[in-house]
Amino acid sequence: MPIYQPEIECMERSEIEKLQLERLQWQVKRVYENVAMFRERMDAAGVKPEDIKELKDLAKLPFTTKQDLRDYYPYELFAVPKKEIVRIQASSGTTGRQIVAGYTRNDLDNWATCMARQLAAAGASDEDIVQVSYGYGLFTGGLGAHGGAEKLGAMVIPTSSGNTERQIRFMCELGSTVLCCTPSYAMYLGETVREMGVKDQLKLKAGIFGAEPWTEDMRKQIEEALGIRAHDVYGLTEIMGPGVSYECAEQAGMHVCEDFFIPEIIDPDTGAVLPEGSFGELVFTTIGKEGMPLIRYRTRDLCSLNYEKCACGRTYVRMKKPAGRTDDMLIIRGVNVFPSQIEEVLLKIGGDVTPNYQIVVDRVNNTDTLDINVEMSEALLSDDMKSVAAVERKIVAQLRSTLGLGANVHLVSPKSIARSEGKAKRVIDNRKLI
Ligand code: ADP
Ligand code: ZN
Repeated sequence: MPIYQPEIECMERSEIEKLQLERLQWQVKRVYENVAMFRERMDAAGVKPEDIKELKDLAKLPFTTKQDLRDYYPYELFAVPKKEIVRIQASSGTTGRQIVAGYTRNDLDNWATCMARQLAAAGASDEDIVQVSYGYGLFTGGLGAHGGAEKLGAMVIPTSSGNTERQIRFMCELGSTVLCCTPSYAMYLGETVREMGVKDQLKLKAGIFGAEPWTEDMRKQIEEALGIRAHDVYGLTEIMGPGVSYECAEQAGMHVCEDFFIPEIIDPDTGAVLPEGSFGELVFTTIGKEGMPLIRYRTRDLCSLNYEKCACGRTYVRMKKPAGRTDDMLIIRGVNVFPSQIEEVLLKIGGDVTPNYQIVVDRVNNTDTLDINVEMSEALLSDDMKSVAAVERKIVAQLRSTLGLGANVHLVSPKSIARSEGKAKRVIDNRKLI
């Protein structure tokens, strides 16, 4: 498989570290001078930009968290004047949880470079036709993959997500060779291809799927259904979007674009940096970003890093698929959902329901399902079935407007949800993702 930038992706470790130190020093100085939050935090920790003399001095710098992005929403973490920002993206988090990221022209160009590396690693070139079936908009998936494919010089078909049969007709008629979307949508596309009986009309050879966790089993099913090789891609809005790390043909971990991001693995409880190969929370420092650089950003994703040389020739460290998160965020049909958001909706409904609820997430026919069982009040129980159905409908509508997600709501009898002696088990996730 060709490598998009062999002189960069296959650098010796000593050269990578040299480049990282230069860029880290540049970045720390910039944020200290331009972003009040970083300056205050560094002053409080007694660190000055000049104290970053070697890479391991990174550990002296304070962490940044998602809460910081909310507290300094929308623009206070930008390190350049607003007029230099040319794009905003936002994470799929909903009302009250949304965070935004700002990009300069260079940031967009570097993002496209990361995605072009990923596409090349999946075997794509300027000869290819790349169908981008991630949603376009605030979500980073669509525009992220789009930028990379254009940079590579491929022909891009920006179908965005949805309208599945039309997607497949396009795929057959225009001869798409590479598909980019979420793994769950790839599963659904695969099923629809089978139903339409058009697998032999597909020209697809590779797929690049990310933005949510998926299993090796799903990988096999997608590869079989679409007749492709399926590659994983990881990213998050705060750091850039998809392409922070990506899989090569070895399919053995995702290479982190180390010229733009320094990864660390920390103990999520103590914050201590863990020895090479340990499993813990992934932290990134963006050493190339101009618009909204982040220092030691805690992703809350749990994984490990592998510095062994990869058979593909790339030297960039590989991260394992995240095997969970340190917070309770669920990713349901690509949308980030916190159980507390569901609880807030239930509390606002008032006296008809009690705060005893259980959230059940599952995957049926390759689509995530969200069921919420809520105990109704004694008063509602003695009412007729019609009022129960009306309350259920009201909760469904409010959940849809808060989360942007459809849910099945079931009002159950008072005291019918099992009580636990310790922490209430509010969420049952039956998807077995890892
Ligand atoms: P959006 O879905 O809008 O990109 P975020 O940027 O907040 O929302 O999502 C980033 C999170 O999605 C990551 O922190 C991680 O938990 C998850 N994620 C992204 N890509 C992958 C992947 N390939 N495998 C597992 N989880 C992933
Ligand atoms: Zn590799």
